[in-house]
Amino acid sequence: MKSLKDRILKDGMALNETVLKVDSFLNHGVDAQLMYEVGTEFKNYFMDHGVTKIFTIESSGIAPTVMTAIQMDLPMVTLKKQASKVLKDDVYQTTVHSFTKATDYELTLSKKYISNEDKVLIIDDFLANGEAALGAIRLVEEAGAQVAGIGIVIEKSFQPGRQLLMDKGYEVYSLARINKLGKGIIEFVEE
Ligand code: 5GP
Repeated sequence: MKSLKDRILKDGMALNETVLKVDSFLNHGVDAQLMYEVGTEFKNYFMDHGVTKIFTIESSGIAPTVMTAIQMDLPMVTLKKQASKVLKDDVYQTTVHSFTKATDYELTLSKKYISNEDKVLIIDDFLANGEAALGAIRLVEEAGAQVAGIGIVIEKSFQPGRQLLMDKGYEVYSLARINKLGKGIIEFVEE
């Protein structure tokens, strides 16, 4: 997606060889117009995948996912990054290792928001080692539902997440794929 790549080059900041900061348009400040275009891209790609619901992980996946859900006219669910305060019987829960914070958290989904007839599109802001996406997949599959695909705004292709998900048979569609990060360096995968 050209406008997204242009924006990453203009405003993205590589903190080191592995972490990209995009606080001005995705993770802190949010460029709603750009997020709407992100939603259009995901809709165009996934509209024939039989999606019934769109899931994301709080909090930075919410903006692009809302924009996709509006344009696909589908319900959206935000997976919570905290252990449930209600009865454990009412939720699906799984432990995920956070790439950016280097800690574990409990990803939680209320049983109210999924059925075994759902085909779920999972959207997130970044794909690194694939831990967050795999956690979301575990929750969907524990409910007996199906994963329709995974939509990623920024994929760091030099980390193992994409390959891991593809090896397990999931379809990954990323709008910007980064090949290399470093001080003052942001390089995209040639496509
Ligand atoms: P994974 O679970 O694939 O290892 O990492 C994905 C999650 O970590 C995303 O939900 C995102 O919030 C965060 N993340 C991973 N890499 C980056 C990065 O380079 N920049 C930012 N801002 N977040 C990242």
